[in-house]
Order: sequence, then C-alpha cells, then structure tokens
Amino acid sequence: MKPVGPIPEGFQTLDAELAVSGQKASTLVAMAGRTPLFAYSRSMISDRVASLREAMPERLRINYAIKANSFPPLLEHVASLVDGLDIASGGELEIVRAAGVSGERMSFAGPGKRDEELEAAISAGVTLNLESENEAHRALAIGEKLGIPPRLAIRVNPDFELKGSGMKMGGGPKPFGVDAERVPALAREIVAGNCEWRGLHIFTGSQALDAGAVIEAQANTLDLAHRITRKAGLELPKLNMGGGFGIPYFHGDTPLDIGRVGSALADRLESLPETLARAELYIELGRYIVGEAGVYLTRIVDRKQSHGETYLITDGGLHHQLAASGNFGTVVRRNYPLAIASRFGAEPHEVANVVGCLCTPLDRLADKAHLPRAEVGDIVAVFCAGAYGASASPSAFLGHGPAAEILV
Ligand SMILES: *Cc1c(COP(=O)(O)O)cnc(C)c1O
Repeated sequence: MKPVGPIPEGFQTLDAELAVSGQKASTLVAMAGRTPLFAYSRSMISDRVASLREAMPERLRINYAIKANSFPPLLEHVASLVDGLDIASGGELEIVRAAGVSGERMSFAGPGKRDEELEAAISAGVTLNLESENEAHRALAIGEKLGIPPRLAIRVNPDFELKGSGMKMGGGPKPFGVDAERVPALAREIVAGNCEWRGLHIFTGSQALDAGAVIEAQANTLDLAHRITRKAGLELPKLNMGGGFGIPYFHGDTPLDIGRVGSALADRLESLPETLARAELYIELGRYIVGEAGVYLTRIVDRKQSHGETYLITDGGLHHQLAASGNFGTVVRRNYPLAIASRFGAEPHEVANVVGCLCTPLDRLADKAHLPRAEVGDIVAVFCAGAYGASASPSAFLGHGPAAEILV
C-alpha cells in the first residue's frame, strides 16, 4: 500500500459524494455534460487570496502567474482579486486581454520572446521582464519603431536560490534572466535609452513549503536588489520578488506557514535601505492561489485484475493531469491526493491502482492506494488539480481530447 497526498481543506461531503462549492460531483459532471472535467471553486480561490492579504504586509502587491491556470472564467475571477498578472508568451497576452485586463497590469517574463511578441506587449503597455541584453536591445529598437517607450524591467539571474524548491530557477548558469553582476550596466544602458524604467524581477524558485527557506530567499532578494540598484546608481521603481509559495501534494507534506513569512517580511520592510524605500513591491504566485481550489473528476470505465492487483481504469489520465502521473519534473513518483468522489468518506476497503486510458505505462493516477471498493461508473477525484493540470498537460496525446472545465 502507498499513501495518497493530503486532501486540501474546503471541499464538502453531500449525500456521500464529494462536493465543490456545494455542488456534488455527479451534479458537476451533469453541468459539464461529460467526464473528465476540472472543477474549480470560486470561493476557495477568493478565500485563499483573502488569507494571503491578511498574512502579508499591506504594502506587498500580489501578481498571479497565469501559466498555472488560464481557464478564462477562472482568470477573470483571479484578476478581480489580485493586483497584476504575469504572462510568459504572446498567447498568454491574448488570453489576459480577452479577460478584459489592460496591459498596464501585466508583466511579461520568459526567455526567447519573439519580435512579434515584444511588439504586441509594448503596444499594450505591458512591462517586459528582460531576459538578456539582446532582448533589451530588440525591445528598445521596437519601441523606437512604434514610437512608444517600452516599459522595461530586468530579470536577474540571482546568485542564490530558494532552498527546497521543487523547480530551481536561480543560481548558476541559467537560461533565465541576466547574471546579477551584469545587471547594473544593463540597467544604466536602458535607462539612458528611450524607455520607462520598471525595475527588477528576481525569481528564485517554486513549490517551497518551508517558511524558513522562503524567508531567507526574500531577504536575499531584497539584499540583491539593493546591491544592484546602488551599483547602478538608479532609483528602483518596482521590485518583483518572485514567489515560490508551495502547496502540499504528497503524504507527509505540511502547508507553508504564510503567517511566519508575512511577519518576517513585515519586519524587513520596516528597515529597508534608501534604494528600496519607494519601490512598489510584488510577489508572483501561481499554484498557491489556484492549485488547491481545483479537482479533476474522471469516471471508472473498467475494473480488472492482473497478477493479484486491482486496476481501476478511468476515462482520464496524464493527458490532463501530467503532474499527478509523476511525469512533470518529479524524480520519484508519489501519489497525489485522490479519492472516490462518488463514495466520498466511505471506509477504505481495498488496495487499487488507478490508471488513465492512455496506452502507455506512464499513465498512472495512483499506485496501490487504499480506497473504498469502486465499480465501473464511479467517479475518481484527483485533488490539487487547480494549477498545472489542464494548462500543463499534453491534451492532444493519443487523441482523447481536452477535459471539460468549470468554475463553480
Ligand atoms: C512559473 C512561474 C511562477 C509561478 O510559479 P508557481 O510555482 O506556480 O507559484 C512565478 N513566476 C515565474 C517567473 C514563473 O516562471
């Protein structure tokens, strides 16, 4: 038997079924018209942002990184709660604009921005988080051609990283950002050009559950921003301090203590050096805002035995939930939180493997999980599906097509 991850708080049990925002799994399936589907809870997202604001210093602004989940109704809801949106492609720019958000509320990071993407972003007034000197020169030239001074910030490749981070994106050679020691010179150069200087972006990693690690990374980020700004001899209008707040996916994971993170940050903000005193301060979060508010529902189509093990075969799989299958940046596969949604709260009765319908051994949703006995027609819920589910899975693989999505 292998444990499954912890089921996030905020779901209900109604008539022995899992419920999201007070709607039973069977009702959600009827609303969507089919399985598999992602159901996202509007109120869980609102509550999450409210508790973040409560924990963080008032001065801190919050951006949402839309690559976590860009389902339009969810995006519109999140946009109404946060201060800004982080995009990472021209396609995401289109998605956010379609949600009615203006370019001034967006910043655009990501290596390899094409000229067309730079042009669209500059025209819309989006802040570019520059990933290289070359990109800086292209942005200035495009701004010149358009007659619009681009809004430019520099993404720094920091000389440290967020410890215990699920995905390391800072420290050492990286395709992201400009190495810290070269940033002052580039900052002076672009400020001397025709642009609106928007400061620095320092992202140090993702999926941290240890408050101490986040506190240390934030302190290092503020120090680095201070050193760069002093060396460049400039004002710092804005600092995007990155994010990295994680959520518990696996057995034994415990939630990040945001109260501790917030009070440590408040202490630091009390005594900021002059270089940072007037900067707008942002954090940028994806999974922390939406990850736990989503559940993936998939129906059991077959139940079979093989060499003494039970297999529950569903109509979903890694084409929608790549991360839960263990194939999205994980070294050792562990079970996501999972339950039989149509027998929610029933006593576990057997050990079963839950798999998807793709013809590949990679397509596993739970290995040897202790579950109530489930039959063909029952609905399986995979939790922590609000981030990097639909947006980060190969939905064209094997031709089953994308899952339905609803916000309730
Ligand atoms: C992906 C990403 C984020 C969001 O990461 P989460 O782990 O979902 O919070 C934030 N900022 C940048 C630059 C990113 O690339």
